[in-house]
Amino acid sequence: MQTLNTTLLIIGGGPGGYVTAIRAGQLGIPTIVVEGQSLGGTCLNIGCIPSKALIHVAEQFHQTQRHSQHSALGISVAAPTLDIGKSIEWKDGIVDRLTTGVAALLKKNKVQVVQGWARIIDGKTVEVGDTRIHCEHLVLATGSKSVNLPMLPIGGPVISSTEALAPKSLPKRMVVVGGGYIGLELGIAYRKLGVEVSVVEAQDRILPAYDAELTQPVHDELKKLGVKLYLKHSVQAFDSNNNTLRVSDPNGDTLNLETDQVLVAVGRKPNTQGWNLEALNLDMNGASIKVDHRCQTSMRNVYAIGDVSGEPMLAHRAMAQGEMVAELISGKTREFNPTAIAAVCFTDPELVVVGKTPDDAKAAGLDCIVSSFPFAANGRAMTLESKSGFVRVVARRDNHVIVGWQAVGVGVSELSTAFAQSLEMGARLEDIAGTIHAHPTLGEAVQEAALRALGHALHM
Ligand SMILES: Cc1cc2nc3c(=O)[nH]c(=O)nc-3n(C[C@H](O)[C@H](O)[C@H](O)COP(=O)(O)OP(=O)(O)OC[C@H]3O[C@@H](n4cnc5c(N)ncnc54)[C@H](O)[C@@H]3O)c2cc1C
Repeated sequence: MQTLNTTLLIIGGGPGGYVTAIRAGQLGIPTIVVEGQSLGGTCLNIGCIPSKALIHVAEQFHQTQRHSQHSALGISVAAPTLDIGKSIEWKDGIVDRLTTGVAALLKKNKVQVVQGWARIIDGKTVEVGDTRIHCEHLVLATGSKSVNLPMLPIGGPVISSTEALAPKSLPKRMVVVGGGYIGLELGIAYRKLGVEVSVVEAQDRILPAYDAELTQPVHDELKKLGVKLYLKHSVQAFDSNNNTLRVSDPNGDTLNLETDQVLVAVGRKPNTQGWNLEALNLDMNGASIKVDHRCQTSMRNVYAIGDVSGEPMLAHRAMAQGEMVAELISGKTREFNPTAIAAVCFTDPELVVVGKTPDDAKAAGLDCIVSSFPFAANGRAMTLESKSGFVRVVARRDNHVIVGWQAVGVGVSELSTAFAQSLEMGARLEDIAGTIHAHPTLGEAVQEAALRALGHALHM
């Protein structure tokens, strides 16, 4: 058996793991990353990036098709056809470029990558095949896995988001089980690619993690696109003999939905099984590894970051935790205490939540001003053919410090940066209202929401 010694050993080369490694390399810490599949993890290979690539293909196809039928913009074009094989090739090209880039960055920072599945021996020893690696600090960054439903095992026509991101051909009909962000992002993309899509959701509305006012424009767009919604319905089983998904309606009656494919998107769970994590006997927080404000587990010098350490399971959180852990190991004083972590749904329209919603503020006992500004009164939104949605600000009534931003509308994912910055910098309504926002931009709705909260919106 080969033996390697290092200061820092990271299990998992996803955004959490590879960012830890890059920063550790920059700080001169001898570092090894073990990755069982592909550098970049879920995010680059089967998550954030491929889903946004597919959404872009779908949007381009949908817009071309729209103009081929009726174009208020005066564009005439023949009805488009789609070579999904080529689309996937394009998406794979982006994934390839990014994962190769990660490998190059690790090399540049003198990080050693060991390919294979790590198995824990103890808090300072890990085995990968016939290699034993000893370390002083261990970072667990093993990510998460799709939650499976026992009555809908993945296989054949029943697929997870991973298969949905690499279709060889498109089905005629698809039922998406789960109306959360992954199910809706993919469901909307498939619909725009011409597939008949239905969504089955157990709760009484889509995107149940967000408030109803915020999700209404997405609900309206689903209707416009012809996506059928089965809310308060629960799944029983899929019968592959006659391509039927059996679901229960709110009265308990059975409904048979004919479909060629079922996409199961009911959430993700921390990846804590199958690599002998039990050997460390760490304190857990439900299904995830329990960590403190420095991402330290209950064992000294063992850290957990990213999805394996629980919610919010987002790539940018994993990266921020990883950067901090590398700095801690180098001896710097750090803690993970962000004011806010933006959550974005790349649905149509897009949705962003940063910091406290009006309900969160109320629950925290804060007396807040809540003010919103509609995109219907924003020139840039009109030029993008989209008037739906709004920007909403939540600010303390006593000192006007902003505690939250939410937005729904075309392209609002890009507003998440300004929202997060304003919260981290402790901005007040007057700071945003007094900043000159470029015209014509969607950002003017951000300024107007702040102005309106102060009682003097200019454009409504
Ligand atoms: C369809 C989809 C869309 C998404 N879209 C977004 C989005 O738009 N924005 C966003 O912020 N997040 C999104 N996410 C979530 C995001 O992908 C995750 O939050 C992020 O990848 C978590 O990073 P991580 O480093 O914790 O884990 P992962 O990215 O899951 O990486 C973990 C890595 O560890 C490896 N590994 C696991 N066990 C071992 C072992 N024993 N030995 C060796 N290697 C091991 C795995 O192979 C994997 O490469 C999406 C997820 C999905 C599925």
